[in-house]
Amino acid sequence: MTKKALVLFSGGQDSTACLAWALSKYEYVETVGFNYGQRHAVELNCRIPIRNEIKELFPDWSAKLGDDHVIDLSVLGEISATSLTRDAEITFEKNGLPNTFVPGRNIIFLTFAAALAYRRNLQVIVGGMCETDFSGYPDCRDDAIKALQVALNIGMDKRYNLETPLMWLNKAQTWELADELGGKTLVELIRTKTHTCYIGDHQTFHDWGYGCGTCPACDLRRKGYEDYIFK
Ligand code: ZN
Repeated sequence: MTKKALVLFSGGQDSTACLAWALSKYEYVETVGFNYGQRHAVELNCRIPIRNEIKELFPDWSAKLGDDHVIDLSVLGEISATSLTRDAEITFEKNGLPNTFVPGRNIIFLTFAAALAYRRNLQVIVGGMCETDFSGYPDCRDDAIKALQVALNIGMDKRYNLETPLMWLNKAQTWELADELGGKTLVELIRTKTHTCYIGDHQTFHDWGYGCGTCPACDLRRKGYEDYIFK
C-alpha cells in the first residue's frame, strides 16, 4: 500500500525540515497550515514560496508533493490569552511555562489534521514537535503525541501514524537533518525562506535567517545554526 502523509507545515524551520523528511520517505505528501491568530502570521506567507522552491529545486520530491490546505483556527487566538496571539511581552508564568504557550495548540492541530487526513485518505501525520528544545510546552512531549495517536485511532476508527522526526533532535541536529536530506540546497532554502520569529519580524536578515534576533524563537534558531556551522 502506498503510504501517504500529511505534514503540519507552518512555514517555519522545523516544519520545513519535516516536509523534506516526509518527501524523502513517503510516496505522496500533502501539507496543512493553521491560522490561529498568531502574531507571526507572516510565517503563513512563507508556506507557498517554500513549497514552490522545493518543487523547483528537488524534482524527485516535486512529483510527490500534493495539495496544500489552510485551516482557520482563529477561535484559538480568541480563547487563549498568550503573547503568541496578542501584543504582549514574552515572559514566564508562575508555573514555569512561557506565556507563548497556547494551551492545547498541538492537540488541536493534530486533531484537525487527523480529520483532514480522514477525508483525504492519508495515513501518516507528521509534526515538528520536539521534546529537546520544547520550551516546556507539555503538548510537545512524546508521551502527549503517543497518547493522542491512541485517542485519534480509537475515536476515528483509523490506524494513523503520528510521526515526529524532530522529537529527540536539538536545533543544530535539525539543520544537520536538513543537510542529510537535501544537502546545502535545502539548508540554504530553510535559512533564507522560512520564518521562526515569534514577533513576526521578517525584515531583518541575519546569518541564520529572518527575525528580531532577541525573542526566544530567534534565540534558539541562532544558537542552533551557530552550533551547526561551527561544530
Ligand atoms: Zn524573534
